[in-house]
Amino acid sequence: MLYVARSVYVRGEPLVVRTAFPLALLRDVLSAGRLSLGAALLLAAAASLFLGTLFLRQLVQPIQALVKAVNKGGPISLPPLPVRPSAEVQELALALKNMAERNEQILQQLQEERAYLERILASLPVGVLVVNREGKIRYENPPLGKLLRMPSQKGHPFQGVLRSPELVELLEDALRGRDGTCNVVLREEQRFLLAQAVSVAGGAIAVLQDMTERHLLEESRKAFVADAGHELQTPLTIIRAAAELLLEEGSSENQRSYLERILEQQERISALMDDLLLLSRLDSGTAVPLDLTEEVDLAELCRVAREEAALHPLAEHLEWEVDLPESAPFAGWSEGLLRCVTNLLDNAVKYTAGRFEANPGGKVSLRMVRDDLLPAWRIAVADNGIGIPEAMRHHIFERFRRGDASRVRNGKAKGGYGLGLAIVKRMAELHGGSVLLEDSDEGAAFTIVLPDPPSGASQREEAAKRG
Ligand code: ADP
Repeated sequence: MLYVARSVYVRGEPLVVRTAFPLALLRDVLSAGRLSLGAALLLAAAASLFLGTLFLRQLVQPIQALVKAVNKGGPISLPPLPVRPSAEVQELALALKNMAERNEQILQQLQEERAYLERILASLPVGVLVVNREGKIRYENPPLGKLLRMPSQKGHPFQGVLRSPELVELLEDALRGRDGTCNVVLREEQRFLLAQAVSVAGGAIAVLQDMTERHLLEESRKAFVADAGHELQTPLTIIRAAAELLLEEGSSENQRSYLERILEQQERISALMDDLLLLSRLDSGTAVPLDLTEEVDLAELCRVAREEAALHPLAEHLEWEVDLPESAPFAGWSEGLLRCVTNLLDNAVKYTAGRFEANPGGKVSLRMVRDDLLPAWRIAVADNGIGIPEAMRHHIFERFRRGDASRVRNGKAKGGYGLGLAIVKRMAELHGGSVLLEDSDEGAAFTIVLPDPPSGASQREEAAKRG
């Protein structure tokens, strides 16, 4: 029971009111209240779940539709929805639609660009081959198939499909980051190609050019020079012998002068023929193999060349500066190396006389130093003659390249046929070296660099054979 007492006043009289209530009745009331509260709460939860789902559907459904449209690709549009999308979702849909349109345009441009590039590559007169880092063929233009006479091999490893070992090696080198060039000879097809490979991000590119016509033309030019040279040698010898005989037999002053002119011109033509034959010999090392392994003392060789040059009729008033080591052992073709130094000294003498004529003032120097870094011998020939005009410097070693004869004051100092320096260059290269035209304050200065053979002279012999 629950008892409650209160004191009250009724008309000034204090009274106590007491009442009692059975607790069992209160418990019943309380449990009835809890039950209805629980039901109300459940009802509220169900209602909010229903409303929440409805709201979420309204929000999520358009977004899901958008995601679906984006994933599908193509133009983005909202499909008809059971619920109206909110303003934000409509804005998002519009932004995505614009972006998709822009992407579509860019894609189209890229495709057009790609097709254009492919058309250009297809119309090039050279073959183009692109390989990826794994060595698989990524792209090949149609001319490549025609050049190599092979069908498209896209996707295949190049080592397995290219028949030329030189080309395979060139591409392998390019993939390792070493760009290069090589000649590719397709013997069966009688084709000569020039291949150039460069490494690019993600692989390498090779460009192949058909050199067959040029090669054949060059071959027939060389053959013509060699044949004509040989053919001319006999008549030239006969002319010389006949002229000398006539001179010996005694003739009038007038006839002597004619005969001397004949001999002079015969010498010039003979010298030209010798140079042409030597160059054609240097070009085709296989035809007449050169011995690049002779033991040569370069210092002694230079001394001999200097003595010969000092006997030149134009060297009479020259001042010589010679600085040579005691000895300079080297392995090479002695006759050819002597020719190199002689050609440079002859030019130095000629073109110094071209400036000073028969007056003193001309200086020619011949020096040889050891370059321990390479290691190599460096033979330097310098003069204070007429010098070399700037415009000519880049072409000076080309065949038949000659300076302007009007720059030479002394008629006798006029040059030959422009083959001297070409021979020096070719000869130095055959020995694995080079010839340089140095900068100089006056006159001209050349340096021949002759590196020690890397492992015996056999490698240079190989180079000579390859020409
Ligand atoms: P060339 O027989 O005409 O001398 P080279 O090949 O030896 O042919 O030389 C080519 C040209 O280079 C010459 O015609 C000349 O103009 C120039 N040249 C070569 N050496 C010298 C030099 N020492 N001084 C000035 N010019 C030179």
